[in-house]
Amino acid sequence: MTTVPVLVTGGAGFIGSHLCEALINRGHHVLCIDNLQTGSLDNLAGFWDHPKFEFCQHDIIEPLSVDVSAIYNLACPASPVDYQKDPIHTFRTCVLGALNMLELARKKRVPILQASTSEVYGDPEQHPQTETYWGNVNPIGPRACYDEGKRSAETLFYDYHRAYNVDTRVIRIFNTYGPRMKADDGRVVSNFITSALKGQPLTIYGDGKQTRSFCYVDDLVRLILACMDRDTRNDTPINAGNPEEYTMIELAELVMELVEGDSSLIHHPLPVDDPRKRKPDISVAKDVLNWEPEICVRDGLSRTKDYFVKTTDGNRFQPLG
Ligand code: NAD
Ligand code: UDP
Repeated sequence: MTTVPVLVTGGAGFIGSHLCEALINRGHHVLCIDNLQTGSLDNLAGFWDHPKFEFCQHDIIEPLSVDVSAIYNLACPASPVDYQKDPIHTFRTCVLGALNMLELARKKRVPILQASTSEVYGDPEQHPQTETYWGNVNPIGPRACYDEGKRSAETLFYDYHRAYNVDTRVIRIFNTYGPRMKADDGRVVSNFITSALKGQPLTIYGDGKQTRSFCYVDDLVRLILACMDRDTRNDTPINAGNPEEYTMIELAELVMELVEGDSSLIHHPLPVDDPRKRKPDISVAKDVLNWEPEICVRDGLSRTKDYFVKTTDGNRFQPLG
């Protein structure tokens, strides 16, 4: 195995930390770059001292010159609450970050994988979404810094391939969950589980009939590895998600069943531009990568609940009253 490291940007985040761990377990030397904006060194605790792991605090909006053998570009906040806190920095991360990492890939002549998102489909008019769908995104709304940032990054990835023959691989990740999600990231899975554990009401935004399709993080990491393992790049982006589709009401009911809680539901206003439905068509991942999700939402949520119980300070989860 080469001693030149593989680079994981955003490696201290939720998905990135699982990817770093999987790569180390495969014998790779891993260089993790992160500005710690939403990630945490706690996520790296399990392999921090591993001889094949290195960490460097760096913001990818600045250029980087290091020797690497492959690049996984995951750096970017993923939760709407997080990416809307500093939308201009989010956009810079998506675009300048992608540009800097593509320049590195070009100079070092190494493959680069982009963690794109189902958000490129916006509020989709096609359901389920195939990779050939061009999307329905509001370019000036509060989600645009992320949606349009990620769309621009995809443009750069395809232009770097056409102009410089860089080996670019793009996956479009749908809602992913699992251990090492931040309890307070504002996303639906963490909100529902932490509220149910505390015996507090579960917050349903809007009427709760909007849908999402949830993928367990281990399944996603298998797909990322399979995508980079291929000898040749795939010409189209690849949807990375579990097609198991839930309304938010159904998700709340499942979480309450798993937590054995008796929380009520309260309705809050629907955030601006919240997509009404989201479900991946995963035919390309099946055909090209021979990949399918293995962990159903019920099992994955149960594991995630166990993680939150184990890692969160007991006091925070004392039932009210
Ligand atoms: P996360 O917020 O847990 O991790 C992102 C990591 O990137 C964090 O550690 C953060 O500190 C780091 N980061 C952010 N901006 C940076 C910058 N400018 N320079 C260096 N580091 C920076 O999010 P995640 O859920 O692990 O998402 C990882 C990637 O997957 C993101 O690119 C995200 O867009 C993509 N994605 C995630 C989901 C999901 O459901 N989690 C869905 C679609 C796409
Ligand atoms: N949502 C909800 N209650 C919450 C948090 C989110 O009903 O406490 C809804 C949100 O409006 C959206 C869906 O759950 O329709 C998924 O939201 P999340 O922020 O997890 O991801 P994204 O909107 O990026 O898919």
